[in-house]
Amino acid sequence: MKIQFLGVGEACDPTRFNTSLLVTAEGRTTRHYILLDCGFTTPHRYFLDCREADALDALWISHFHGDHFFGLPLLLLRFWEMGRAKPLILIGPAGLQEKVKQAFALAYPSLLARLRYQLRYLPVSPGSPPLRAAGCTWQAAQVEHAQPALALRLSAGGRSLYYSGDGRPTPASAELAKNAALIVHEAYRASGETPNHSSIGASVSFARQAGARMLALVHLAHFEREQAEERLRELGPDQGGLKVFLPEPGDAIVL
Ligand SMILES: [Zn+2]
Ligand SMILES: [Zn+2]
Repeated sequence: MKIQFLGVGEACDPTRFNTSLLVTAEGRTTRHYILLDCGFTTPHRYFLDCREADALDALWISHFHGDHFFGLPLLLLRFWEMGRAKPLILIGPAGLQEKVKQAFALAYPSLLARLRYQLRYLPVSPGSPPLRAAGCTWQAAQVEHAQPALALRLSAGGRSLYYSGDGRPTPASAELAKNAALIVHEAYRASGETPNHSSIGASVSFARQAGARMLALVHLAHFEREQAEERLRELGPDQGGLKVFLPEPGDAIVL
């Protein structure tokens, strides 16, 4: 499983793109491409590297805030322009199909009906049985955020990635993250506590409790970036066997 950080920023970060991951899940004879979240700036970053209309198999939406969801009309418009024919799987919280319709009604009202490829909606509920799609197993848990939001555990070939989306950890998300090789966690605040978001300290504790080997911190408040980097230097890169790092757009990890 390869994870590429297309973007690592929060909504207002002017240089690091909205947080979004491109996952490549390879089996013996198969290869699946999965995009995790699609914010305002994600399509421009995605299409810098990915020029095949049919490459993407599935898209995960963690919640419906703009920096995680509002890139969808542009992503699907560009696929349409490129002549995409392959169905696209959309996985996310309950209400996903209705939200997609609303977004298109505002952005490109006639486009949904003109797409030459099918959209297959797979809404998931927190704690529901694992879902199989695009060569992976998908499991979700609720996190604490300003609106309903899901964390994801994505597994393939015996490897698991945990992606927090936005939100503070919950007992259910802690359970979901157990023994994931890589945890990608939002750490909006460099220190202290804030409602509806995690912090560097909370994310490190979360990953240590989960028994993860690696923790990538993303979605840091752009106005606290220097503080965050300083905080990480103080902590050191190794937290009792847990490697903690701040990825930059374009960085990739193979699990
Ligand atoms: Zn966000
Ligand atoms: Zn959010």
